Amino acid sequence: MAAFAFDNSYRRLPERFYAPLAPQPVVAPRLIAFNRVLAAELGLDADAMAPTAAGLFSGNQIAEGAEPIALAYAGHQFGNFVPQLGDGRALLLGELIDAKGFRRDVQLKGSGPTPFSRNGDGRAALGPVLREYVVSEAMHALGIPTTRALAAVATGEIVRRETALPGAILTRVAASHIRVGTFQYFAARQDAEALRLLADHVIARHYPQAGTAERPYLALLAAVAERQANLVARWMTVGFVHGVMNTDNTAISGETIDYGPCAFLDAYDPATVFSSIDRGGRYAFRNQPAIAQWNVARFAETLLFLIDPDIDTAIALATETLKAMTSQFGRAWLSGMRAKLGLMREEDEDGTLIGELLGAMHAGAADFTLTFRTLADGAGAARDLFGAPEAFDTWAARWQARTAREGVADAEIRARLKAANPAIIPRNHRVEDVITAAVERQDFAPFQTLLEAVQRPFEDLPQFAPFTRPPQADERVLQTFCGT
Ligand code: AMP
Ligand code: MG
Repeated sequence: MAAFAFDNSYRRLPERFYAPLAPQPVVAPRLIAFNRVLAAELGLDADAMAPTAAGLFSGNQIAEGAEPIALAYAGHQFGNFVPQLGDGRALLLGELIDAKGFRRDVQLKGSGPTPFSRNGDGRAALGPVLREYVVSEAMHALGIPTTRALAAVATGEIVRRETALPGAILTRVAASHIRVGTFQYFAARQDAEALRLLADHVIARHYPQAGTAERPYLALLAAVAERQANLVARWMTVGFVHGVMNTDNTAISGETIDYGPCAFLDAYDPATVFSSIDRGGRYAFRNQPAIAQWNVARFAETLLFLIDPDIDTAIALATETLKAMTSQFGRAWLSGMRAKLGLMREEDEDGTLIGELLGAMHAGAADFTLTFRTLADGAGAARDLFGAPEAFDTWAARWQARTAREGVADAEIRARLKAANPAIIPRNHRVEDVITAAVERQDFAPFQTLLEAVQRPFEDLPQFAPFTRPPQADERVLQTFCGT
C-alpha cells in the first residue's frame, strides 16, 4: 500500500518551473518529532508510517508516488531584487489531498543541494528546524494561517555555519509553496506564458472564486491582498515579528511561511527588531503591515499585463486594489484588538482606547502577551505589570466603563478575554533553551514539553505555568539569527 496518495499538480507545469531531483541521503537519520495529528489530517496512517518515518522524513527513502522537485523562484530580499533564488535546501516531495479535500504540499527542508543552492550546502541545522517546528505549530494553535510541521529528523551529520552544528531536516506542509517571488521569477524573464499558467494554477488551487470574476487576475490580486492584510493583522494581535518579510517569503496562499529569525514581543515596543541581519529595521514589528502591502505591490506588477491589455487601466485597477489593503488591515486589526479587550460591540472610540493601552504598555515596558491575558483577572491584576502604572490606571477606568456598555456579565467578559488572549506563546528565551538543550546535550525533552505547551495556548494548566512568564532581565533574548 502506498503510504502517501500523492497527486503532483505542480509537477505537471512546464519543466522551467522546477528542477526534478532526489534528496541526498543522510548518514544516520533519527526521528525527533512526528506530528500524528497532522498526519491523520493528511490522511496518512501514522502507525503504519512510524517504523519507517526516519527514512521517509530524511529523504533516505523516497515514498511511493513522490516526485521530488526543487521550485524556481526569485524575490526581493530587504528591498533588493534577486532574479534567481529557488529551493536551495528544500524539495517538494509531492502534493496530497487532505481529509477535508484541500491540496497540501509536503516538503523536505534541509534535504541537500539543488541547482538553486548557489554557495549553500543545502542543509539545515538542528536549531532552526526546532524553532520552525515549535513556532509554526504554535501559530497554528493560535488560529493563525501557517505552514505546518509534520516531522523533524536529526541527520547524524554535521553542518558548518559559524561553528559545527548537528544537522536536521524538517518536513513542512503548506497549502502551497508558491510565493510572490515565484511570479517575480517569470516576470524577470518576461515569460508571459509561464505567468499566465502560474496565475491560472493559483486561481484553480487557492482562489477558485476569482476564476469566475469579470476580471479573474484582478480578483486574484484582490484575494491575495486581502489574505495578506488579514494575516499580518493576526500577527500584530499576538506580537509576532516575522523578521524576513522578503517577497520570496510571502506565500500566495496567505499562510505564514519561512520561519527564520522570527520571534514574539515580550515587553511591548512597536520598534522591536530581533533579526541580526535586519540592521535598518525594515522588518520591525510596526512596519509589517506596510511591508506586506509593498510585497503585494510587487506581486501586482507581475500581473499587470493579465489584468488589462491597456497598461494604464491595469495600473489604475491594481493601485485601487492595493490601496484597499490599508483599510482591510485596519478593520482586521481593530476587530482582533477589540476581541482582545473583550469587546464585541463597535464604538467609534475603540481605536483610541486600544491605542492608549498600547501607549501605556510601551511607556511601562509591560509584557504584551501577559498584559492582555491578565486583564481577564481584572485591571488590578494587570496594573502590577506596568513600570509606570499611572497611565494604565487612567486607561483601566475607561476600559471598565467601556466593558460595562457591552451589557454582559463580568464572567462573560472574562471568558472572552481568555478565549482571545493566549497565556502561552513560544517565548524567545524558551525557544533558545530548547535549542541549547538539543544541540549541546542531545536532550529533546525540553523541546517536547514546550511543543505540548504551545499547542494549548489558551488553557491555564498548572504544569505549563512556567511558559506563561516573561523572561527575567538576564534571560531576555534581544537578537535572533536565521542560522541558515
Ligand atoms: P531564506 O532566507 O531562508 O528565505 O532563504 C533565502 C534563499 O537562500 C532561498 O533560495 C534558500 O533556498 C537559500 N538558502 C538558504 N539556506 C541555504 C542553504 N543552507 N543551502 C542552500 N541554499 C540555502
Ligand atoms: Mg525563504
